[in-house]
Amino acid sequence: MRLAVPLENLIDQLIKLPTIGPKTAQRLALYILKLPEEESRQLAEAIITAREKVFPCSACGYLTDVDPCSICRDEKRDGSILCVAEEASDIIAIERTGFRGRYFVLNKDFHLMGDNRLEDLNLKPFVNKLASGEIKEVVLALNPDIDGEVMARFLTGIARQHDVKISRLAHGLPVGGDIEFADEITLRKALEGRKEL
Ligand SMILES: [Zn+2]
Repeated sequence: MRLAVPLENLIDQLIKLPTIGPKTAQRLALYILKLPEEESRQLAEAIITAREKVFPCSACGYLTDVDPCSICRDEKRDGSILCVAEEASDIIAIERTGFRGRYFVLNKDFHLMGDNRLEDLNLKPFVNKLASGEIKEVVLALNPDIDGEVMARFLTGIARQHDVKISRLAHGLPVGGDIEFADEITLRKALEGRKEL
């Protein structure tokens, strides 16, 4: 049995999304086809608009539609503590713990075994923040895996050139796990028990 070509195309696009297998892609595609036309149009437009309007904040790397982002513009935040994370999704998780410092998002998956090179990271905004003298502590909120370890050492080397305390989220986070998926309590504890490096 052959599927209609446009339906097949839709399934092919959905299958590219993380955690979506062939069966789920097919179910979602059929679901989308059953939506009222207006709703399917809104879905398509939401994807295009988000793609066009959302970009990393030039100061911190968090995803935003205004530059600098709302976190950077929030004057009530503690500018003396800077939390460094790999992805914007980690920031969303850390915000839920009640942390109200500032952030720097690397926006890059780093894989030791891939072709990623630490030198390719855009660390200029990070270095500028350190050079401003406002920051007293850098908290490395990197995933507790081997890539996170390598990244932590690299960033520690850079931060040490400035007069700042450097800490890393405490263990308690599952080794090999993902900060993004850590529950709020584990993550809050990890933040509170951060270790100075
Ligand atoms: Zn920002």
